[in-house]
Amino acid sequence: MTRSTTPIAMLPGLLLCLLLTLWTPSAQAQILNGDLVQGGLVIGRTLPGTRAFLDDRAVSVSASGVFVLGFGRDHPPTARLKLIGETGEPVERVLEIRQRSYQTQRIDGLPPKMVTPPADVLARIRRENAEIARIRTLDTPVTYFEDSWLWPTIGTITGVFGSQRILNGQPRRPHFGIDIAAPRGTSVIAPRDGIVRMAADDLYFTGGTVMLDHGHGIVSVYSHLERIDVRIGDKVEAAQIIGAVGSTGRSTGPHLDWRINWFDQRLDPALLMTGMPAGG
Ligand SMILES: [Zn+2]
Repeated sequence: MTRSTTPIAMLPGLLLCLLLTLWTPSAQAQILNGDLVQGGLVIGRTLPGTRAFLDDRAVSVSASGVFVLGFGRDHPPTARLKLIGETGEPVERVLEIRQRSYQTQRIDGLPPKMVTPPADVLARIRRENAEIARIRTLDTPVTYFEDSWLWPTIGTITGVFGSQRILNGQPRRPHFGIDIAAPRGTSVIAPRDGIVRMAADDLYFTGGTVMLDHGHGIVSVYSHLERIDVRIGDKVEAAQIIGAVGSTGRSTGPHLDWRINWFDQRLDPALLMTGMPAGG
C-alpha cells in the first residue's frame, strides 16, 4: 500500500491530467477535471474493472473507467481515495481538500411562517424531503456529468453556495445553491444531459421543482419554477428547456435556485462555470 499527499489543490480550474497519478502494477487513476476543494466535483479515470472508494464509500467506475467524486461544503481537510485493481492489492492516496470560508447572509423582516414552517405542514415537508433524499441515493450508470455545464438560466446572481443564513435573527441551514434572479417566465434549460427524476409543481419549500440525474450520484435541482416542461423519466438533452423561472414555494421574488449534489454531498455549481454571460 502506498500513501502520500498531493499539492494539486493549488491549481483550481486547470486540467489536472496526470498530476494525481496513482501508479502501481495493480491500480492507477488520474484526475481529468475539477478541483479538490469544498463544494468541488472531480472527475477521474482509472482502469476499467478497478474498484474505487472515497472515505470508505464505494464509488462507481464506468465501463470506460470514469468515476466522479464530490466534496461537500464542510468536507474535512483530507479525503482518502482507495483503488483496488485486478490483483486485489489496494492503493490508497490522501487528497488534500482546500478549505473555504463562507459569507453570512442576514435576511430580516420575513413573515414568521417563512422562517419556521407551521406545524400543520410538517408531515407534508417530511414526505417531500423523503422523496428528495431517495432521488439523491440513485447511482445511475450513465456519465452525463462528463462534459462542460451550461448556465441553466441567465440573470443576476443574488445568492452563492455555502453562505450561512440568518433569517429574522435566527441561524438557519446554509444556502447550498446559486440563486439567479431573472424575470418570471425566463426559460430554464438543462445544463447537461440528464434523466428527469422529479417534476413537481408545488413542494413546500421549493415550489415547482425539477431534479435531473446526470449519473453516478450527480443530481441537479431547479427550484421555484413557474412552469415545468418535462416529466419524470424523460431523457433531456443539454440546452433543452425544462421550465421557466418563477417564485413558487418559499421565495421572495422570481429567481432560479440551482443546486448540484453528489449523493448527500452538496456541491457548488459556480465551480463548474465560467462567468455569467452578459444580458442577464
Ligand atoms: Zn436559493
